[in-house]
Parts: sequence; C-alpha cells; structure tokens
Amino acid sequence: MNPLIDPFGRSIEYVRLSVTDRCDLRCFYCMPKGFNDFEAPEHWLNFDEIERVIGAFARLGTRRVRITGGEPLVRKGLPGLAARLHALPGIDDLSLSTNAVQLARHASELRIAGVQRLNISLDTIDPQRFREITGGKLEKVIDGLMAAKTAGFSPIKINMVVMKGINDNDVEAMVEFCIEHSFTLRFIETMPMGDTGREANAHFLDLHTVRKRLERRYELVPGVMPGGGPARYMRVAGTELRLGFITPLSQHFCETCNRVRLSVDGTLYLCLGQEHKFELRPLLRAGVDDDALNTAIREAIALKPERHEFNDKPGQVVRFMSMTGG
Ligand code: SAM
Ligand code: SF4
Repeated sequence: MNPLIDPFGRSIEYVRLSVTDRCDLRCFYCMPKGFNDFEAPEHWLNFDEIERVIGAFARLGTRRVRITGGEPLVRKGLPGLAARLHALPGIDDLSLSTNAVQLARHASELRIAGVQRLNISLDTIDPQRFREITGGKLEKVIDGLMAAKTAGFSPIKINMVVMKGINDNDVEAMVEFCIEHSFTLRFIETMPMGDTGREANAHFLDLHTVRKRLERRYELVPGVMPGGGPARYMRVAGTELRLGFITPLSQHFCETCNRVRLSVDGTLYLCLGQEHKFELRPLLRAGVDDDALNTAIREAIALKPERHEFNDKPGQVVRFMSMTGG
C-alpha cells in the first residue's frame, strides 16, 4: 500500500496516541488549577476502536506509536492496550510519555506489554518547586523513575520544560541527577497552547541561552540518540549523558514533521500548533470498513498544514496540550 505522504512531501509514520485528557497533576503551563471539563467517557475511543485506527495506520506505513495524554496511566487497563498495540504487525516502536506519578505500580507490567521506551516529564528535583509547578509530590515521581530503571527501560528520557524565573536555575542539578542515574535529559521550550501555555510563555526561555550556560560548566560534544523526534542532541564529555534540545519556537522543525496526533475522542490533529483536524469517531461508530478507514486517514493527512504559527499567532491554539496529546 502507498505510504502516507502529506501535501508538503513529508512521510507520516508516527502517531501520538492520547488515551485520556485527564491527569493526576496540574502543571501550570499545561492545565489550569481545578480544571475539570474533561471529555465524556462515552466519547472516549474504546480499546477496540484504538486498535482499529492504529492498525489502519500501521497498514499505511506507521511504525512508531507513542502513548500519551493527559496522563496515560490514569486510563484503566493501559498495559493491556499497550500489549494489543505492540502485537499489531508493522508497529516496531512503542513508547510512552508519562509524569511517572503512578509508574512505580505499572513499570514492569508496561515493559512486559512491549513498551520499549519511556519519556518522563520532570521539571525540577526540588520538592517544593515541583509542588509549585505541578501541584504534586516529587517523591512519587522519583519512585516511578527508579521502578522504570529496575524494569529495564532504556533509554529513559527526562523532559524538562525550562522556564525563566521558574526552574532555569535547576538545569545543573537536573544534569547531575541524570548523570548519576544514566537518564537522558531533554530541554523543551514552552509553547503557547491554551491560556495556560500562553501564561507560561511569559517565562519563555530560548534554549540557546541554556546551552550557553551549560557550556560554561561542561564540555558539550555532538551526540545522537535513536527516536523519531525533533530533539538535537549533545553529549556531556566524559559522561554518557545525552542532552536534547527541543526548540519548537526558537528554531522550528516543521519541515521534518513526521507525525499526527489522535486525541481520546478520536479526532486526528494534524499539527500541534494549528486547528486542522479530522474526526474519526463518527466513522468508526457508523461501522466504517477497512478500505473506507484508509481513505479517511488519507483525506486527513491531506489536511496537514505546513507549519505551526506559535511565533506569529500565539493566541491561535485554544486547546491545552493535555487535550491534544503532547
Ligand atoms: N502527562 C504526560 C507527561 O507529562 O509527560 C504526557 C502528556 S504531557 C501533555 C506531554 C508533554 O507536554 C510533557 O513533557 C509536558 O511537559 C509538555 N507540555 C505541556 N504543556 C506544555 C507547554 N505549554 N509548552 C511546552 N510543553 C508542554
Ligand atoms: Fe498532566 Fe502532563 Fe499536562 Fe503535567 S504536562 S498537567 S503531567 S498532562
């Protein structure tokens, strides 16, 4: 079957699958405090529906799937879903993004289910600051991280959203923590998604500044990492630590974008920073056959825009990151 190619010649081979828009944290840059206006359960794609959509993508050339949310571990039975996705012919890279709050309980089960790689969000290792940023307890996340290590996940990538005046002074402590535990550390620029993201954008920090700052203390040499993402990697000389820089704003990477996002209600979002979308749930619930599902996915891919406009139109995206599946 012909692979999925978008109107700008990009091959689409990576699906980020949001299994819930709910979360057990409230990172201030992502979801408003006390937010409760979640998608109704009857609108959630069930596991059969998810398996059908990902199966269709796999037949159309998708090899990579990342399970995300909201917080994916709040969706009941997630390891069972992971096992079903892992078993789909063609899917050879199954990964998970999590805040790790509930990871200690699920790590080994997820590994057995076939999840190969983990990305864990952690913006600081200062317990007080962690509470201020997320509303949660750092201790649980550290337990989750250690359980992931014990379960044999490799690599374990830590994602740190770096914000001026919030946690920018924590980058060195995070580097040392990641050297000690053999984690990979990736820095991310804040994106103006929803009101929360726009508020956080007041703390926007160009990652070039972070890199310059680290270069005063560490020797950074070019490095590479497997994965389908947009991070540019450096290695800290004399250690195994890889540092990734994800710069959607200061140096966007739209020309190599290879992904789409499926939200919990079965909407395909074609770009994180645009509203272009295609609703698959009505088709699934109307009993669409495999050929028509393939055609619908091709029609959706034809809508993929060239690039985000976070810099030019920061007010454009009203949904929070947790609604699309970051
Ligand atoms: N709950 C999981 C987690 O935190 O890893 C998965 C979903 S979360 C939406 C995925 C990623 O999006 C996290 O690394 C988080 O830091 C990032 N994120 C959320 N809002 C953001 C924003 N406004 N700007 C940049 N990154 C953001
Ligand atoms: Fe939850 Fe992840 Fe958003 Fe934080 S970034 S509120 S952990 S979905």
